Amino acid sequence: MKPSVFEYLRPESIDEALRMLAEDPDDSKILAGGQSLIPVLNFRMASPERLIDINRLTDLAYLRSADGELRIGALTRHAMLEKSGLIERRWPLLKAAAHWVAHAAIRNRGTIGGSVSHADSAAELPVALTALNASIVARSSTRGARLIPASEFFVGTMTTAMEPDEILVEIRVPALPAGHGYAFEEISRRNGDFGLAGAGVVLSIDAEGKVSDPRISLLGAAQTPLRATEAEERLAGAVADEQAIDDAVRLACEAAEPIGDLHGSADYRRSLIGVVVRRGINNAVTRAKAGRDATPQHNR
Ligand SMILES: Cc1cc2nc3c(=O)[nH]c(=O)nc-3n(C[C@H](O)[C@H](O)[C@H](O)COP(=O)(O)OP(=O)(O)OC[C@H]3O[C@@H](n4cnc5c(N)ncnc54)[C@H](O)[C@@H]3O)c2cc1C
Repeated sequence: MKPSVFEYLRPESIDEALRMLAEDPDDSKILAGGQSLIPVLNFRMASPERLIDINRLTDLAYLRSADGELRIGALTRHAMLEKSGLIERRWPLLKAAAHWVAHAAIRNRGTIGGSVSHADSAAELPVALTALNASIVARSSTRGARLIPASEFFVGTMTTAMEPDEILVEIRVPALPAGHGYAFEEISRRNGDFGLAGAGVVLSIDAEGKVSDPRISLLGAAQTPLRATEAEERLAGAVADEQAIDDAVRLACEAAEPIGDLHGSADYRRSLIGVVVRRGINNAVTRAKAGRDATPQHNR
């Protein structure tokens, strides 16, 4: 199908984009990479009267660290996350998650701002950002910028805490301890498909071999990314032995409320959650042990 008729606007600055959006927020849509919006328009699942193309706002495409935290501009493409040395060294979970997003052609166009704003419940980057305790900077022309924690940003399937007159401009990710372990695990029917189940895990292992600051964020377990807090509490301060990992996997599965569809029943999806959480914890622990042994004491 073809989209309904719309007016196409191409601002040259973020202020101009915000002004255009404020003129008619309920009937306008921001166009970033177009990898989700264009199919939505073609299927006429949405028929906005105006498209505001932000692709000329190239100063929104950046990755930098400031005061130890990572700042990601909204127009940063998924491929930039995959290829950045800064991400690989300091926030490798993001690289691992980006790699699971669709195919290379889509990762070259799709943006992190688009993925987070679109808030598909099967999208990898929102899950990784929830594990990383990230915050989202949303701006409007009248109220300025506000910071929304990822834990409050994702409200439901394709629903966020942003107001219609706001543009997502930046994502901020706090520093992680040197030598932390991470893993992003996913199961999908075919390579590049949206995942049936996934898990983003970060944790550290202290000098006594105990887990510290474990974070487990689930994909496909709810309508939003879901932190498996009971599983995290079971691991925190424990030695990551078989019993602790079994318990954490069970608690994560109990917390999950997957919805069955033609790709798999709710029970099947819950069992997949168990598989990805177990893989995620095991791989994160292995990396954390290697990272701890390789990190000088004063850098921890
Ligand atoms: C075949 C196919 C397979 C895919 N598989 C996956 C997958 O496995 N995992 C996955 O995560 N994604 C997948 N995607 C989606 C892809 O990752 C998109 O890039 C992403 O969802 C949206 O990013 P975008 O920049 O293309 O946004 P767009 O499509 O341009 O916009 C998406 C939505 O976000 C809004 N928006 C965009 N930017 C902003 C902003 N800065 N502020 C406010 N609102 C904004 C738009 O108005 C629109 O509503 C797939 C897409 C396709 C076509």
